[in-house]
Amino acid sequence: MRNIVLVTLDSVRADHCSFMGYHRETTPTLDKMAREGLVFENAIAAGVGTPASMMGAFTGNFAPLADEINSKLWREEFKRRKTLAQVLSKLGYSTGAVVPNTFASSYFGFNKGFQYFQDFLGGKTKFYERIFERVFRKNGKTAFFIRNLMNFVLKREVFTPWEKYYEEITDWVEKTKEPFFLWILLMDTHFPYLAPRKFRKRSSFLSMYCSNWKLQSVNFENRLIERERQKLIDAYDDSIRYADEFVKRLIKDLKDYDPIYIIHSDHGEGFGEHGFYMHGFIRNKAVCLYEELIHIPLIIYNADIMGRIKEPVSLLGLSPTILEIIDKNNEFPSKSFLRSGNEWVMVGAVENGRIKIAIRMKNWKFITGQKDVDELYNLKSDPHEQENVINEYPELAKEMRRIVEIHVKQEMEKRKIRERISRIKL
Ligand SMILES: [Zn+2]
Repeated sequence: MRNIVLVTLDSVRADHCSFMGYHRETTPTLDKMAREGLVFENAIAAGVGTPASMMGAFTGNFAPLADEINSKLWREEFKRRKTLAQVLSKLGYSTGAVVPNTFASSYFGFNKGFQYFQDFLGGKTKFYERIFERVFRKNGKTAFFIRNLMNFVLKREVFTPWEKYYEEITDWVEKTKEPFFLWILLMDTHFPYLAPRKFRKRSSFLSMYCSNWKLQSVNFENRLIERERQKLIDAYDDSIRYADEFVKRLIKDLKDYDPIYIIHSDHGEGFGEHGFYMHGFIRNKAVCLYEELIHIPLIIYNADIMGRIKEPVSLLGLSPTILEIIDKNNEFPSKSFLRSGNEWVMVGAVENGRIKIAIRMKNWKFITGQKDVDELYNLKSDPHEQENVINEYPELAKEMRRIVEIHVKQEMEKRKIRERISRIKL
């Protein structure tokens, strides 16, 4: 069985990768992998925000449309589900993960099935419980500031550069029995965008810090002037370039193990296109389903498959895809990317109890629950979703609403079934 390496680049939007047509060269390594491997041009996140999207990716089922910071709920949901790491473990894989993102940590239950799981929390769940409570639920500005300052000084969480833990990864690989499944989630591309000097091509030390600081000082609201916005994008692009360097180095160092690589992001990032920055940041409640947040890069490399797939695929298909590549039966409720041919995929998000659902087709997109009126966009002529044409297609809109209704009902039923099954004691 082949070794497998999954690299998740946090918050990287598809249209900022050069292999996806971005006008800047941000991803030279991924570009090469894309040329020699398989690219999904319309890959869609399984949710907005790390926990929702990655739970979907690892279990083949949408995460519950629920409060992102209620970690207890996520841990319990994970207990009820079968995970990719668990399945691979059973098949004889050594499973390891290096994840400096608290939202994808053991605190949220992501360690299920991993024999080695480094999330840099040191098992301090209670401590994080308190911090999360103060920072997010109570909207505590002081707690937010202290948390960020501590993380900044200690280079933790969103401030963790990959070079800080790189050797931990190669050490684990060296002492691990093959075949292995290794998951690494990079935070370098998550806000704040702080690429080290060597990789700062478009931003300077000053402009990088100033633009990040500026966004935070306006509380992530849409109040940057165009010049500030552009500087922030420069810093973001540099951070993508820095993350690309990680992949380059990893491929070089793991050459002897000849792993299959899957490179993707969990969700995108907003830069004011629709009035918000970042991705569903809880304090300004910008959880939405526009392309900048749901359209993600996705490449499979070194698996003897090449090409560019245009049909939409959902990240929900990650686990079945990996099983298919290693020639094992699918044990998940979703479909492998390799068996796509999908006309459409779905993705949802929740904001203050309000459910939003998008149906993403190759050229069309329907969104409901996001605004007072439903939205329909022709992505071919209007890729930035500026012109809502819902009133021009009343029949199509009606059908889409019906599909969404069925989908939501199904998800609720599935959840009920999982809850009941988990209560059965044998
Ligand atoms: Zn994320």
